[in-house]
Amino acid sequence: MKSKNISRRQFFKTTGGVAAMAAAPAVKATPKSDYDTIVIGAGLSGLHAASILQDNDLNVLVLEGRQRLGGRVYTLMHVPGRPEAAGEWIGGNYARMINTIKKLNLEFFIPEGGSSRLGGWAYDIKGQFISESDWASSDLNPLKGDNRTILPHRMLSTLTNQNNPLANQPLDAWLKPEFAKYDIPFDQYLEKQGLGDEARRLMDVTIHTSHMSNTSALHELRRYHVNSFNGKHKFFEGSSYAQIKGGNSLLPQAMAKSLNNPVLLGKTVVHFEQSPTNVTVHCADGTQYTADTVISSIPMPVLRDITFSPRLPVHMQAAVNEVDYGLSIQVHYLITRRYWEDDGMAPSLWSDRSIERFGARNLDKKDGPAAGVAFINGEAAHKFRLMSDDAIFKYVANELAELRPSMKGALKPIMIQSCERDPHGAGDWVYWKPGQVGRYAGNMRQSHGRIHFCGEHTAIMERGMEGAFESGERAALDVLFS
Ligand SMILES: Cc1cc2nc3c(=O)[nH]c(=O)nc-3n(C[C@H](O)[C@H](O)[C@H](O)COP(=O)(O)OP(=O)(O)OC[C@H]3O[C@@H](n4cnc5c(N)ncnc54)[C@H](O)[C@@H]3O)c2cc1C
Repeated sequence: MKSKNISRRQFFKTTGGVAAMAAAPAVKATPKSDYDTIVIGAGLSGLHAASILQDNDLNVLVLEGRQRLGGRVYTLMHVPGRPEAAGEWIGGNYARMINTIKKLNLEFFIPEGGSSRLGGWAYDIKGQFISESDWASSDLNPLKGDNRTILPHRMLSTLTNQNNPLANQPLDAWLKPEFAKYDIPFDQYLEKQGLGDEARRLMDVTIHTSHMSNTSALHELRRYHVNSFNGKHKFFEGSSYAQIKGGNSLLPQAMAKSLNNPVLLGKTVVHFEQSPTNVTVHCADGTQYTADTVISSIPMPVLRDITFSPRLPVHMQAAVNEVDYGLSIQVHYLITRRYWEDDGMAPSLWSDRSIERFGARNLDKKDGPAAGVAFINGEAAHKFRLMSDDAIFKYVANELAELRPSMKGALKPIMIQSCERDPHGAGDWVYWKPGQVGRYAGNMRQSHGRIHFCGEHTAIMERGMEGAFESGERAALDVLFS
């Protein structure tokens, strides 16, 4: 990857600069660039783009708004069991990510229980408790035939993937015109597949978007198409999924360390100002940095609060205004009493009521005290926007005690984590509403003059962490070859 960037850089430093000066004489004296490229955001996409540009001899600076690296990769190092608060499972097909992990001498591991819930789930459905083994024969099971063995927490993924029209297609097939007919409300699609109200209601508990009716079926079909593709590739001890030993956050930390210029933390970008020859990036603390080009990995909804001069083109601004990310909230507690020994059910709870999941871990206390997390996503997560942390701890503990009386008094608050509860995060993942795949998904990679965009929301093949890597690579190539 060492060839064409030379002419690209020479273009900026000689031809491009001279031509632009001739075209726009004496409008405004623009400052000389401090850097070849400034990357905004020290998540995986931004760090990967910076690393590729540095390998191609560009002088790169990364500006990060938060006081920590990693963005949506965040290991809660001080919580028992070191849970991953965001990007958790590295898939077998995550070629760029796996390669980077190996290059930086980090190690993989599979946590106890693998990607399944340790000890299984106790299901709370319509106010009745059902064990995993009783589900297939339960009166509350709305499915027919062989489908009755599909456990409630797997209904969304398994049923979406049955008859998935994207199966056996390349990963970017979701953008092909022939699949545009699925860019419709997901619940409509499922109804046409013969899934009744109750099956759809249970699937909606797990969905990571605002609601099924407000989600493009094509988005969900793509999601599970990519998941099943990744699941077919075994890469570590025969498993398709692994994590990084010591915590996934070690990866962005090692990537940042390998950069020549230290990542600047606490640099919230609020304004981009383009001249014919370069871009000045303005930060909330009053500092400014200038570069020939910029790569922004800022999530779409956060861009709503940022100004561009000149303004974004109309269709890009419309996408910024309309595209949303799915929400979730994690409420972490210490488990002070082994409540499952009182009621004889599985330690973890999956519920169709207010607190959708409570996952217990560290039950053998090998890695610190026993702990658990209430994980609430989608529509049910929205109300927490209106509550203080204290109110959330109380609300969740009270609701859990109501759902499962043995849990009363068994939880002690540790911390709350949500990608949306700070100004630099917009939610968990981008999701497309009905019609948005056609309107926006194929255009998210377009540049605005000297400003290029990366981030998982711009990836077209992979999703999640590998999507972030894919997008960082593409944006770096945009800078090098455009
Ligand atoms: C709960 C949860 C579970 C997940 N599980 C998985 C999983 O199991 N597997 C998987 O592959 N993926 C998973 N993901 C998704 C994955 O974590 C993300 O897709 C990926 O990390 C996104 O990387 P990114 O670089 O695109 O964005 P980010 O990591 O969000 O990076 C953007 C960066 O920009 C910074 N920023 C924002 N605004 C500004 C500003 N104005 N100025 C300066 N900096 C700014 C942010 O602080 C952030 O560091 C999960 C995500 C969540 C939330």
